[in-house]
Amino acid sequence: MSYKSDIEIAREANKQPIQEIGKKLGISSDDLVPYGHDKAKISQSFIKSVQDRTDGKLILVTAINPTPAGEGKTTTTVGLGDGLNRIGKNAMVCIREASLGPNFGMKGGAAGGGYAQIVPMEDMNLHFTGDFHAITSAHSLLSAMIDNHIYWGNDLEIDTRRVAWRRVVDMNDRALRQITASLGGVANGFPRETGFDITVASEVMAILCLANDLEDLEKRLGDIIVAYRRDRTPVYCRDIEADGAMTVLLKDAMQPNLVQTLENNPAFVHGGPFANIAHGCNSVIATTTALKLTDYVVTEAGFGADLGAEKFMNIKCRKAGLAPSVVVLVATVRAMKMNGGVAKADLAGENIEAVQSGCANLGRHIENLKSFGVPVVVAINHFVTDTDAEVQAIKDFVVSQGSEAILSRHWELGSEGSADLATRVAEIADADMANFAPIYPDDMPLFEKIETVAKRIYRADEVLADAKIRKQLHEWEEQGYGNLPVCMAKTQYSFSTDPTLRGAPVGHSVPVREVRLSAGAGFIVAVCGDIMTMPGLPRNPAAKSIHLNETGEIQGLF
Ligand code: ADP
Ligand code: MG
Repeated sequence: MSYKSDIEIAREANKQPIQEIGKKLGISSDDLVPYGHDKAKISQSFIKSVQDRTDGKLILVTAINPTPAGEGKTTTTVGLGDGLNRIGKNAMVCIREASLGPNFGMKGGAAGGGYAQIVPMEDMNLHFTGDFHAITSAHSLLSAMIDNHIYWGNDLEIDTRRVAWRRVVDMNDRALRQITASLGGVANGFPRETGFDITVASEVMAILCLANDLEDLEKRLGDIIVAYRRDRTPVYCRDIEADGAMTVLLKDAMQPNLVQTLENNPAFVHGGPFANIAHGCNSVIATTTALKLTDYVVTEAGFGADLGAEKFMNIKCRKAGLAPSVVVLVATVRAMKMNGGVAKADLAGENIEAVQSGCANLGRHIENLKSFGVPVVVAINHFVTDTDAEVQAIKDFVVSQGSEAILSRHWELGSEGSADLATRVAEIADADMANFAPIYPDDMPLFEKIETVAKRIYRADEVLADAKIRKQLHEWEEQGYGNLPVCMAKTQYSFSTDPTLRGAPVGHSVPVREVRLSAGAGFIVAVCGDIMTMPGLPRNPAAKSIHLNETGEIQGLF
């Protein structure tokens, strides 16, 4: 049997006009700002008008440590949202927007897959409603104003060797990782080293996703540390006086984007911070608004639960006062096999033993998630190649852990395939079993926060950091940043910092190579291992096979 590609399925979608989707949420046309026929932003005045309503239930979708292909978190998020609607619940989905650059590298979109997708998927994966362009522009304005300030005399006495603010572009371009700027003579300023990150790695992105409203956005932008003086005192974005104009550029980007699923259920797609040097969740404003509009909100956090769910809980929920009612942990047979030591090339063919040994990874994630006080359901995202015995092996394991696993076939069947999962998830959410709390308090010293995550979530024996890093953390505590959460940046492929160490490793150490202060976003980044903030393209980029066909349709994107 052959299956249609994601883009073929998306193209056949029976989309409703966006006003119809808005109606389902009680949003009148006046409060929708349409971007074409099938996308709209939600007005700030509407968002303000629903603040007093009670919140629906928040459902987090996360996953085991992924295989390089992704485990289907977005697909499951969308499938579960449709499943809830199918069983008569009032539900919506909140996910992240896509970064443009990676689309042209490896195939793989951000809109879900199979019969569990968000549409219009091409738009969502390309320019969409222009939010990322706005973020790039706001970031670039600050970059330009910093160099301009130095050019016109540098009244703030910025040490030009210590400009922390880099530049961004939404493209995978390794040539720009490290550059020398202002070459070419007196008229072009003072030459200095700098470099580019991809837009989703910008602190502006993280800020947009954590800000409660436009006022909070402007304050956080002002708080960004852009450089240091020779005496090491920080220079803020506010000192450069860029915060006001940046807010103006971001005014529309702060409004959540309304789109629909293949089954015409509403979805907010908004924001997209990196899941390593930032927290990897869609915007707070989209999630908090969605909770006012429907009884159930299904959302996703990036990478595996050790990174994505941990940051969702310890950063996003803590900061926005959110509390998940239930966590859905996505597992796949093939990822269990890979965690059980099978190479990617050998995934085909039944291998129950490998599934069983990979389950150690799943078991640890279940335990970890429960330690946040939230009930966990495992969703087995079904691939048509999975055998019944392999699926049963996962189910048996999960039961032995005191949890439950439900097979879900949304990729193949849409909501018909996810109705069982939806029914159980709704039951658990309605039972109010969660007793959510982040795993460390605000007032714990910064280094101890890093240790808490490393020991309790990664199960490391120790955190290694040289004196320079510990001193830096102390200095930030003295400057009043001690109550910030930590944003861990490590590989997504392992609980440890070694991507090849799959399963459930013990006895490892977590080396902290560097710490960074994101004062505007409001977290301390602990860099553990190599973290890429500007990806490159592969030898054969997907872009080579992307083009418009005779009828003007996009070919080769997914
Ligand atoms: P994640 O959000 O975990 O990165 P996605 O949901 O984006 O993963 O899925 C990654 C890719 O895997 C997509 O191309 C999607 O179509 C595909 N995929 C997801 N679930 C299935 C499945 N059950 N069967 C086949 N392909 C799937
Ligand atoms: Mg995803």
